[in-house]
Amino acid sequence: MASRRGRLIVMEAQNRTVRVWLKRDSGQYWPSIYHMMPSPCSCMSFNPETRRLSIGLDNGTISEFILSEDYNKMTPVKNYQAHQSRVTMILFVLELEWVLSTGQDKQFAWHCSESGQRLGGYRTSAVASGLQFDVETRHVFIGDQSGQVTILKLEQDNCTLVTTFRGHTGGVTALCWDPVQRVLFSGSSDHSVIMWDIGGRKGTAIELQGHNDKVQALSYAQHTRQLISCGGDGGIVVWNMDVERQETPEWLDSDSCQKCDQPFFWNFKQMWDSKKIGLRQHHCRKCGKAVCGKCSSKRSSIPLMGFEFEVRVCDSCHEAITDEERAPTATFHDSKHNIVHVHFDATRGWLLTSGTDKVIKLWDMTPVVS
Ligand SMILES: [Zn+2]
Ligand SMILES: [Zn+2]
Repeated sequence: MASRRGRLIVMEAQNRTVRVWLKRDSGQYWPSIYHMMPSPCSCMSFNPETRRLSIGLDNGTISEFILSEDYNKMTPVKNYQAHQSRVTMILFVLELEWVLSTGQDKQFAWHCSESGQRLGGYRTSAVASGLQFDVETRHVFIGDQSGQVTILKLEQDNCTLVTTFRGHTGGVTALCWDPVQRVLFSGSSDHSVIMWDIGGRKGTAIELQGHNDKVQALSYAQHTRQLISCGGDGGIVVWNMDVERQETPEWLDSDSCQKCDQPFFWNFKQMWDSKKIGLRQHHCRKCGKAVCGKCSSKRSSIPLMGFEFEVRVCDSCHEAITDEERAPTATFHDSKHNIVHVHFDATRGWLLTSGTDKVIKLWDMTPVVS
């Protein structure tokens, strides 16, 4: 989605067709372009400044077009033979004239958009499903289906591995980079979002739990510092990122409940000595202590630790949490479709969601994102 001189443009690539929708004076959307591709479309990227549309295909090719000023025509510019199989992500970097892409072939590649030449590549540990780039420092972030985030530093024709992050128990489904705060967000099929504070250089990683299903798309409203996460359950969660959140504690290991000292069931020796029936070990999400079910019977949300839903806490933490600490730091909305892609238009405050139902919805987010 893009806004140009007051006009709202929605681009859609589905199966072998690319459509561009324009909002007419009547207020209705009509397709102005209907273009057939030689292979099914798998992803796309649009740069409003140059009106450059890059479309990734199932056959591994990236096809580049320039759209006319009135958005009624698309002219082919060039093709990149970027991957051996389906292109999964494309990112066009205008400042460097680079086209970054990832594919089903587990390759990350970058091409020069001027010459069309391949500049370099890197083999990822699994198929990538999230791709972000920091223009200033030339770092690329690649999230993959194994749950790993790989950070590479790109030079003109080579790259070096900086580090890898592992925090998700499921595959990474989306990445979002805030170049101002230097924070990376990763969404995962494990239902969580992790905020990696890269600029803080303390290795802080904060978990955000606000979905009951896979997180499938992320967008960031920079001017208001709000993160928008969308899930397979149709949930749109708007997170206030101005709030100082705390890291969740490491889970402590113990042979017995750290509150009442009852042994856990695998502690055979102590069980034998005290002849008690072992209990199941649980963990308080707030203090991280290993506790038995009896000492952690209560539940609470802990928004300042990213838990917008109720989680297990020990009895003493439950008593200590104030109502103020329980105040939500996110708002929840129901899109009523399984969202696979999201785009936030900051100038209008509009959110575009598209789902597995092949429906595109536009939401006026000004009441919540402002
Ligand atoms: Zn206990
Ligand atoms: Zn506790």
